[in-house]
Amino acid sequence: MKLIGNAEILTLGSKGFIHDGAIAIDGETIKEIGQTEELRNKYPDAEFINAEHRLVMPGFLNAHMHLYSTFARGMGLKGEPPKTFGEILKKLWWKLDKNLTTKEELYYSAMVPLIEGIKSGTTAILDHHASFGLIDGSLDIIEKAALDAGVRSVLCYETSDRWGKEARDASIRENVRFIMKKKKDVITEPETLTAATFGMHASLTLSDETLEMSKSEAERLGVGFHIHVAEGEEDVEDSLKKSGVRVVERLKKFGILGDKTLAIHCIHINEKEIDILKETNTMVVHNPESNMNNAVGVAPILEFFKKGILTGIGTDGYTPSMFESVKVAYILPKLHYKDPRVGGGESQKMLFENNRKIFAKFFDKPVGVIEEGAYADIIILDYYPPTPFNADNAFYHLIFGMRDNLVNTTIINGRIVMKDRKLLNIDEEKIMAKSREVAKKFWEKMQND
Ligand SMILES: [Zn+2]
Repeated sequence: MKLIGNAEILTLGSKGFIHDGAIAIDGETIKEIGQTEELRNKYPDAEFINAEHRLVMPGFLNAHMHLYSTFARGMGLKGEPPKTFGEILKKLWWKLDKNLTTKEELYYSAMVPLIEGIKSGTTAILDHHASFGLIDGSLDIIEKAALDAGVRSVLCYETSDRWGKEARDASIRENVRFIMKKKKDVITEPETLTAATFGMHASLTLSDETLEMSKSEAERLGVGFHIHVAEGEEDVEDSLKKSGVRVVERLKKFGILGDKTLAIHCIHINEKEIDILKETNTMVVHNPESNMNNAVGVAPILEFFKKGILTGIGTDGYTPSMFESVKVAYILPKLHYKDPRVGGGESQKMLFENNRKIFAKFFDKPVGVIEEGAYADIIILDYYPPTPFNADNAFYHLIFGMRDNLVNTTIINGRIVMKDRKLLNIDEEKIMAKSREVAKKFWEKMQND
């Protein structure tokens, strides 16, 4: 048993904000929430974690991430800089994923943002993995990194036709193998940190045949999809050319949408497509910084909210930090619509409510909320509010006053993974040093390709 006490708790649940509160943690779950004195008396033998009146809240959930993107950091590209999103994919990302060929590259490129996530309060990620130089078993390597770091994750492999039929078949096989493995784990071992879904890149690199094959496997396994949707105009043009209909309609036709499917980005979609997302209860994930960086446009977030589409927020590999992502999600609509009234309610809901609802589809107990019975995924921040703080204005304290380096302690699945900004179970310095070594060799490979 652990007891976090002397805590200023933002539960993001029905208990709102609790002053001088305490959280009793039994194993991997939250057993009880109350006042410090009351719970100290009730659980005198529990390991006491003194929050010293810091802010305690649920860890952040990153609803779309690419751990494998790490080695692009600081890497130059040969030739002219990419002019379009299509060129960014071809000159950078597809070249990078093809050159990921070793277990070390996969492991260290995953470890770095997992650690940075812990340090910025992210306790769970929905990852979208691609390493076309090493497909078979790649999700096991990502899983090992996530388990070593102690981070909750939902993993999948980006199925695509971009590197030929053999690679396509291997991608489907990897999804199926890993989904089966996680199903088996539920029965044979109490590993509750990792879940699986079926990954697909985007309509523009998926043939009709691949969509059919993926659908039949996912249906058999009872899972949905994690797929990029209409991120760039290229996706729309390709879909019209291939099928005569736009991206969302094409995906609907092949049975890819539904309440277990994550449609990432959804920038270039029209009203009819928004209606289809709603009718099929498909989830959408917004990644504003990545979209700005790729110059692909602004997702019609306000329309999604008007229609009641479950819209969450991720980082798309642009950053491991949810603070960064939500701050941009907050401010971008104001600039885009030239209206200071928009963006606040939507970004708050994405971060505080909708990501939790999205992750609930993959785990047997709630995450992203401090309530009895939820997984104990909790962060403690060195944040002492300079103005009155309550459940209703907490989000605005976050936007204007909180940042990555205020995260002091991170607890995931009841296990303390970081305390006083020190990672307890892994050697951060050693991992970063090894990552630089592996990345240097990887860059040489990229330069020679
Ligand atoms: Zn992505």
